[in-house]
Amino acid sequence: MRITIIGAGFSGNTLATLLASESETATEVCLVGVDETFGRGVAYGETRPEHLLNVRAGHLGADPDNAGEFADWLHLGPQGRNGFLPRLAYGEYLTDRLHKAKAHATNLTLLRQEAIAVDRIGDGFRVHLDDGSYFASDRVVLALGALAPQRLAGVGPRLAQSQRYVAWPWQDNALDKIQPDARVLIVGTGLTMADVVMSLSKRGHTGGIVAISRHGLVPQSHQPEPGPAIELPPSLQQALRTYSIRQLVAAIRPLARVIPDWRSAIDALRPHLQDFWRGLPARDRARFLRHVRSYWEVVRHRVAPEVGAVLDDLRASGQLDMRAGRLVRAGLRTDGAHVLIRERGSEQIGVERFDYVIRATGLDTDIAQTTHPLASHLHEAGLISADAHGLGVNVSDSLEVLDSRGAPIAGLYCLGPLLRGHLWEITAVPELRTAAKKLSQQLGLAGSNATAQGRRRNLERELALSQSF
Ligand SMILES: Cc1cc2nc3c(=O)[nH]c(=O)nc-3n(C[C@H](O)[C@H](O)[C@H](O)COP(=O)(O)OP(=O)(O)OC[C@H]3O[C@@H](n4cnc5c(N)ncnc54)[C@H](O)[C@@H]3O)c2cc1C
Repeated sequence: MRITIIGAGFSGNTLATLLASESETATEVCLVGVDETFGRGVAYGETRPEHLLNVRAGHLGADPDNAGEFADWLHLGPQGRNGFLPRLAYGEYLTDRLHKAKAHATNLTLLRQEAIAVDRIGDGFRVHLDDGSYFASDRVVLALGALAPQRLAGVGPRLAQSQRYVAWPWQDNALDKIQPDARVLIVGTGLTMADVVMSLSKRGHTGGIVAISRHGLVPQSHQPEPGPAIELPPSLQQALRTYSIRQLVAAIRPLARVIPDWRSAIDALRPHLQDFWRGLPARDRARFLRHVRSYWEVVRHRVAPEVGAVLDDLRASGQLDMRAGRLVRAGLRTDGAHVLIRERGSEQIGVERFDYVIRATGLDTDIAQTTHPLASHLHEAGLISADAHGLGVNVSDSLEVLDSRGAPIAGLYCLGPLLRGHLWEITAVPELRTAAKKLSQQLGLAGSNATAQGRRRNLERELALSQSF
């Protein structure tokens, strides 16, 4: 039995370590990931010391049965456990976990390559790598993370290819070219914007920074100390039971006003959100995305208090200008990027000059639009299908992907942010580790059945053979 996990970020790493420790040694686990961020993924690989985790250290263990594992690994005391550490430290922890798992498990193979295609062969799969080699696998898990961002609508091709446009702000040295006094436009006002502002601030930026998004809403901050946990009142329980977004919003507002910290209400709702989302008809999901999402995201995805303080200071000094508006058109001129912006609620379109335009519009999970080689190959081949709202991949309740006709593909699974369409609340560590655990249990069972049939292959021999043709 061979299980191949494609994508070695948090999800792939966690699933591989679980499978390697839990499966019988006759089940071979193969983790395939791009070299640059192997074991860490984008969030904890492409990051800088000033980028902080947005979950308290004490809750970030990768093992769902041991949420304190990360804090224990760092020997943190009670105060440290409540703190928000650099994401780099989390990347170190994930790498260490994977190395330890590899040292103990003879059935875990790590392949530092990009998978470019997966074909269905009989009741299994063939995985193709970017060096031209391929191998067979009984099960495949797609843990690809969020997809690379598409070009921003309205950004002209010359600007998009110029030094003045930053499409992927986390990439090594992406911001180093920006002079301290440069005038910068950040498109997006969420967590990616916060990362960019933290990096610019760390580098002593003095120039003006404008950040725009449709609603101009800024992520709220965590408090230094967590507020007291609350029980969900009957009004919210009723809203969840009846799948009513309207009731949910109506019930949460008065509650937030009477409890010591409104954040406790959001945190109490969080464990119920996957079931709530799954029970919503498509029409209501669309309504949520259109009317509630922007407001929900700034209260749900909060920044560390230290990050919130930097944003507040820069806004108070006037250096950071947050606006509700839309980039209509941006083009390259000799003196910089000329950007047409329509402010929210206005018919007027203003033109402004910036030295740099930075795309910070967050996760992209729309597999129908993506240029990601593997995701677009699988989509075109009809092996995966796009969620109706562009949120990811359609899957069954057991996380098997649904093909273009809506039928589950036995043995082909998805894990990670591409499950947003199915579960909505599935982008952060607490939900991802639980999903990884459930899938590992399911695959472990499937593995022991296949092991009983006595199937065993040799991966190195297969890869070498595939290249000799
Ligand atoms: C910038 C950022 C900060 C975040 N901060 C936090 C936080 O503080 N706390 C929290 O709880 N959550 C945070 N999250 C959310 C969540 O923890 C991450 O999104 C999580 O790491 C997702 O893990 P993943 O493995 O599913 O995806 P990713 O981390 O994106 O990993 C997927 C990996 O697969 C690779 N890959 C893709 N396609 C292929 C292929 N064809 N072949 C081989 N490899 C491939 C990618 O290059 C990548 O390395 C953050 C997310 C981001 C983007």
